[in-house]
Amino acid sequence: MTAYVDSREYAAARDRADPLSSFRERFYFPAEKDGLAPVYLCGNSLGLQPKLAERYVLDELRNWRDFAVDGHFHSERPWLSYHRQATAGFAALTGAEPDEVVAMNTLTVNLHLLMASFYRPTPERYRIVIEEKAFPSDRYAAMSQLRLAGFDPDDGLLEWRATNDAGTLDIRDLEALLAEHGDSVALLLLPGVQYYTGQVLDMAAVCRLGREAGSRVGLDLAHAVGNTELALHDWAPDFAAWCTYKYLNAGPGAIAGAFVHSSHFSPENLEQLHGWWGHEEKTRFRMLPTFTPAHGAELWQMSNPPILSLAPVIASLELFLEAGLPALRAKSADLTGYLDWLIGERYADRIACITPRDARGAQLSLRLRDAGSRGRALFDALCALNVTGDWREPDVIRVAPAPLYNSFRDVHEFADRLGTALAQG
Ligand SMILES: *Cc1c(COP(=O)(O)O)cnc(C)c1O
Repeated sequence: MTAYVDSREYAAARDRADPLSSFRERFYFPAEKDGLAPVYLCGNSLGLQPKLAERYVLDELRNWRDFAVDGHFHSERPWLSYHRQATAGFAALTGAEPDEVVAMNTLTVNLHLLMASFYRPTPERYRIVIEEKAFPSDRYAAMSQLRLAGFDPDDGLLEWRATNDAGTLDIRDLEALLAEHGDSVALLLLPGVQYYTGQVLDMAAVCRLGREAGSRVGLDLAHAVGNTELALHDWAPDFAAWCTYKYLNAGPGAIAGAFVHSSHFSPENLEQLHGWWGHEEKTRFRMLPTFTPAHGAELWQMSNPPILSLAPVIASLELFLEAGLPALRAKSADLTGYLDWLIGERYADRIACITPRDARGAQLSLRLRDAGSRGRALFDALCALNVTGDWREPDVIRVAPAPLYNSFRDVHEFADRLGTALAQG
């Protein structure tokens, strides 16, 4: 355990010794407010803009201008195979084989497309398990899949509930739920990192329990990708999906990622919703009436991808590959550890952290110990001090130092401004 020190000098010294510190200069930060520099701890919601993202978007605007339709084949990164620029990065960050991942669509759309393949209910086995307090989009997606298949969501949706005050999930409760209802469960749709509490779930165990219950497993990695180490190929969920605008810094609504386990690759498996981009590339432009499937996760593609929304993904993945996830994880644990330690040292009587210390990524979910109603006022006071975290109903302030661009000084400054905000309430 590092012996942290509560001082600016200490934080500055830690930054000087940080081998990843130079990445900070490769991002744009929001503006100062009333002479206060930004303390941006919101990379779990929308990551900052990499300067390289700007360049790659401008490159494609230029290619479109200069090459027009020929850009599909003749630019530096031809659009025909542009999505493949994301393959190595996605595979490295998710622990997948390259042919198991693909950049396409957006997250909720991918969940639906993958459920079209992997949620195939029968009258006996039709239920979907999500977690209590699941991200609304995932809940709505699961409910609508049930409804479309002719089931009542009130009966069809099962919740893995938290059985402690902090609201964190215990794998034994999932095991018990499946022991009771497993025969009727068709799909587990669960997160890698729970968005509200910041808890990292035991994804290997989730996949194993799902498999043992005879259910399919889909993972939503929105808060996990670029934040925790993943081993999708070995854990072997049937599918996974993630967005790229959170820790991956690819910008609002950027193109998302999807994973399909290689056990589902066979020429006979045609249980997807097809479009021409899922057709084998070699013969795609013969415009044949018959469908020849592409190999791997690319078979799940439908349309030619929006290049301008994919360009920042490519840029961002380049930075992740350069920094390396193990180094980022090591810094992240240290940085978030410092944040947790400072809050504990200074404000333990006022603030509780509900994120489990032994199962977390970058994010801490903070809660005022006294009257929950004042949490929102505290959050507003932090915003006025140019601190960006986010507020999640009913009572949590989420803060997440992103190891690519946040510093120990950011964390120390946050602790100072948190003190100022607390003194105001
Ligand atoms: C951020 C997030 C989403 C957002 O979905 P989009 O389709 O990208 O708008 C969905 N689910 C979870 C768990 C998230 O964290």
